[in-house]
Amino acid sequence: MSDITPSSSPTSMRTHLCGELRSENVGQTVSVCGWVGRRREHGEHLAFVDLRDHSGIVQCVINEDVDVRSEYVLRITGLVRERPEGTVNDKLPTGRVELGECEVEVLRKADPPPFPIDARADDVDENIRLQHRYLDLRRERMQKNLRVRSAVNAAIRRGMERQGFVEVETPMLVPSTPEGAREFLVPSRKEPGSFYALPQSPQLFKQLLMVGGVDRYYQMARCLRDEDLRADRQYEFMQLDMEMSFVTQDDVLDAVSEAVLDADEAITGERQPAIERITWRDAMDRFGIDKPDLRFGLELVELTSVFASTEFKAFAGAGAIKGIRVPDGASDYGRNQLDKLTDRAKSLGAKGLVWLKVTADGFDSPVAKFLSADEAAAVRSAMSADDGDLILLVADEWMTTCEVLGTLRNDIGRPPVHQGPYRYVWVIEFPLFVGVDKETGQPKSGHHPFTMPHPDDIDKLDSDPMAVRSIAYDLVLNGWELGSGSIRIHEPELQRRVFQALGISDDEAERKFGFFLNPFEYGAPPHGGFAVGLDRLTAILAGEDNIREVIAFPKTQSGQDPMTNSPIPGDPKSIAELGLKVLPPAT
Ligand code: ASP
Repeated sequence: MSDITPSSSPTSMRTHLCGELRSENVGQTVSVCGWVGRRREHGEHLAFVDLRDHSGIVQCVINEDVDVRSEYVLRITGLVRERPEGTVNDKLPTGRVELGECEVEVLRKADPPPFPIDARADDVDENIRLQHRYLDLRRERMQKNLRVRSAVNAAIRRGMERQGFVEVETPMLVPSTPEGAREFLVPSRKEPGSFYALPQSPQLFKQLLMVGGVDRYYQMARCLRDEDLRADRQYEFMQLDMEMSFVTQDDVLDAVSEAVLDADEAITGERQPAIERITWRDAMDRFGIDKPDLRFGLELVELTSVFASTEFKAFAGAGAIKGIRVPDGASDYGRNQLDKLTDRAKSLGAKGLVWLKVTADGFDSPVAKFLSADEAAAVRSAMSADDGDLILLVADEWMTTCEVLGTLRNDIGRPPVHQGPYRYVWVIEFPLFVGVDKETGQPKSGHHPFTMPHPDDIDKLDSDPMAVRSIAYDLVLNGWELGSGSIRIHEPELQRRVFQALGISDDEAERKFGFFLNPFEYGAPPHGGFAVGLDRLTAILAGEDNIREVIAFPKTQSGQDPMTNSPIPGDPKSIAELGLKVLPPAT
């Protein structure tokens, strides 16, 4: 059983919800309240009105002369009776009954809505839906999504409380936080020229709660990041944020898994098995991405050693050669599509893409003649290829080979994110540093600068920093990153070494993070934590591909709110009071 069926909630105005009336209620006189959905004239001075509330609709037979129109708010008292033979609607949960002998009370008249308040609104321009979100929310789909969201939140809260976590709220006006996204700044009126930031996450505060002896903290936390919006990203989003003391990675993963699987079970009615784990290195090797989608095959196959002494110039000396096999793909991909795949591979940074169509006599491919018989046989066997399959090969630096094939794999095989089965996976042992800061030439933190390096790699911090793994982990569901976390550094000496590797001097560290790190001197326990993106988890569990569908009042992709018209130009008086001056937009 899932937790999202609306529960009966009589009030002094109603005895039942519209959507809960069944044959068992026949013979009862009931009162229901809601909005007029459809009205159909029914001869003999009668009309059918569908009355709708958050639980569904019920058909009411009323006198034709009662003036009720679309979206009027009504209270109807009537007798529940079986629908006459031939008028039963099995698609509707209330489709066997109707309300007769209706007494209708108009609680509020309504203007005609700008779009139909039913499934037809799915095709209405999103801006119009968001402009009138309060009407859009009356629809069954949106009501269900909000209930899914509430059930996910409730299950997570229960799961965390059961495990001894204590909910603590942290401030919204904060100094800069270290997630690395662009921040929203809030000017201080009392100190013109100074700013608070809105929290990218409660990171610093939750770690200080550990210094404060809280032991197990959680919060349903609102986080704000000024980044370009996408299907899985809004300026403001909700996280299950958590942190715990005296733990190793296993403890954190177990605690988060339990709460997340509780939420999954609340919606699906089934308990998922324990969440599997994969190292970052394996995820890249096998799926070409750090958020692998395990719902489908097309795994990357390692072929570097096959071409160890190849004469084929494009492959000779490549750091890594890998391939994916598209079963029965040979006939699906004509020349045009193969050219498109090649262009895509190049635009992703590969020097090229080699394709081989597997036939009974070998490979049909422009490069077949450059492969030796041994190489061709080894490729065929390593890839378990059959006649009619299509093989795609990339030879490049290891990272490029993985990433390009990983993207092609998703392009070719990935189902919409919400589609079952739900496949959770923990990706562990992320690199401590990723890429190099263009301005400083120093490595950049993979997670954030307080992440614990892997104990086996600490001696490489100075000699080979890019090879250092960390105790940082992500939770991934159906190819979406649900969240990240890490075990934190709690010893100052190690923290200093990591800052050094990042090119952060003692002075800069003191300036930026002193308020955060100095308290550690009073005794920081070993600790670690995690944050789960609740909008993403809810969207997938609600069967949606876009988090906007599970947020009551989201911003559009361009960051606008068409309902309130925000953002709007600031009032000059308020701007002056804050000691600010607005410059014309940069050209
Ligand atoms: N603050 C991190 C984030 O928002 C999560 C964590 O490290 O606990 O990604």
